[in-house]
Amino acid sequence: MPSVFEKVLVANRGEIALRVIRACRELGVASVAVYSEADARAPHVREADEAVLLGPAPSSESYLKGDRIIEAAKRVGAQAIHPGYGFLSEREWFARAVRDAGLTFIGPPAEAIAAMGSKTAARKLAIAAGTPVVPGTTTALRDADEAADVAERFGYPVLLKAAAGGGGKGMRVVQRREELASALASAQREARNAFGDDAVYVEKYIVGPRHVEIQVLGDQHGTMLHLGERECSIQRRHQKMIEEAPSVAVTPELRARMGEAAVAAARAAGYTNAGTCEFLLDRNGEFYFLEMNTRIQVEHPVTELVMGVDLVQWQLRIAAGERLPFTQEALVPRGWAIECRITSEDPANGFLPSTGRVHYLHVPTGPGVRWDGGIETGSEVTLHYDPMLAKLIVWAPDRPHAIARMHRALLELTIDGVDTSRDFHLRMMENADFRSGDIEIQWLERHLAELAATQPPHESVVRAAIAAVLLSESDRGRRQPTSSAAADASRAAPAGSHWLEVARREALR
Ligand code: ADP
Repeated sequence: MPSVFEKVLVANRGEIALRVIRACRELGVASVAVYSEADARAPHVREADEAVLLGPAPSSESYLKGDRIIEAAKRVGAQAIHPGYGFLSEREWFARAVRDAGLTFIGPPAEAIAAMGSKTAARKLAIAAGTPVVPGTTTALRDADEAADVAERFGYPVLLKAAAGGGGKGMRVVQRREELASALASAQREARNAFGDDAVYVEKYIVGPRHVEIQVLGDQHGTMLHLGERECSIQRRHQKMIEEAPSVAVTPELRARMGEAAVAAARAAGYTNAGTCEFLLDRNGEFYFLEMNTRIQVEHPVTELVMGVDLVQWQLRIAAGERLPFTQEALVPRGWAIECRITSEDPANGFLPSTGRVHYLHVPTGPGVRWDGGIETGSEVTLHYDPMLAKLIVWAPDRPHAIARMHRALLELTIDGVDTSRDFHLRMMENADFRSGDIEIQWLERHLAELAATQPPHESVVRAAIAAVLLSESDRGRRQPTSSAAADASRAAPAGSHWLEVARREALR
């Protein structure tokens, strides 16, 4: 195997830092972790070959300290920096500063990040490349009167969007003229607070579309390929929760057309490395470019599993100057992959963030199961960072089997100590609309209440109780079934169920 880099610094934390460290190790590259004081005992710090402390827990004093990170990379003799996602991954200045320091930024050129950095600039670029965009404007609104004129032209409902937006911030749906002025003011305020830029523009609000995105990969020698689509329509507050590849709504012919549109937009931006073009796909099969994410994405594993391509390893290899050896024709999805984001949020309580110590973690294994996690038994979950703890990903030959496999894997998963989105995902895998593929981006918001009201399957209650029994015993150093969790287990398991036996046996062991 050709040598890529000798040493790479991973400027991130959690599951994505581990993911990059694993790619480095498989390529024979030494990895350097960075960490905050809160993460001193985090798995990514232990798994890397070296680790550098950045500063106190808040990201503004640690993971966002670009200068300190570059300085650390130089000090330890790393040749390149992988930014992961979030934090500094889409900051043009950081990509530029890494390059100016004589290091390689594992991602697109700073100029491409800039070109795609604002939604309005990206829209202009996409239009010029012939890629269809959502009807709307490409410049910031001056005031509510201008917004009203534009909205009149496209027809209500419209969506106000922050040009610098990300993570669903600075977005407002407006149904009527009367709502426009206050929605604009609040979108501008939110955008200013989140991004330091209050530019807001208008898009037509598309009713009932799917979110379908295309993965692209381009080397430094002119090859730009797409690796098919990911379906990301299961969203809450414009944030993805479940992703799949391929999409039930995409035929090979549509995949080719969307792929070409994504490649054209990426080329127009002078893009290299891994990136994603996000589209809305409406009921008539028309698709519209939303934006380009100039980094590796959370949901990249589903593409890896159906395409048999290690995207993170290719990020390193492309950055080191290697050529992509694939042809577009050879990149055909095989089977089906689904990813569930396991977050520290309580679905039974309006997805309220949950914090605490992970007392016990049991990770699913078995055929076709992949766990990209950033936690372990003993991890502290705090409010300093993103609530995503891990991603559970499965592959199977077709969608029904992938859903069955995900359901099975979720049943095996036990996280004790913090509330998580696990039971929400179990209910999703049992949901008739999800199972038939009849979903769109507004589906989840409409069904949240009814999903929250559904009882979790009794197996999961019993498993959690068993975990609690084992834990209380090891904590107290004795082996007696005194824990109230044993009683919970007995109550939760229906009479005659083998679960009752399992719970008893475990409690008495
Ligand atoms: P962000 O960068 O903040 O995530 P995006 O532009 O990617 O914002 O949009 C996030 C989500 O909001 C999309 O996945 C989609 O669900 C919804 N959305 C965005 N634009 C529109 C639109 N014009 N019509 C309907 N829904 C939209």
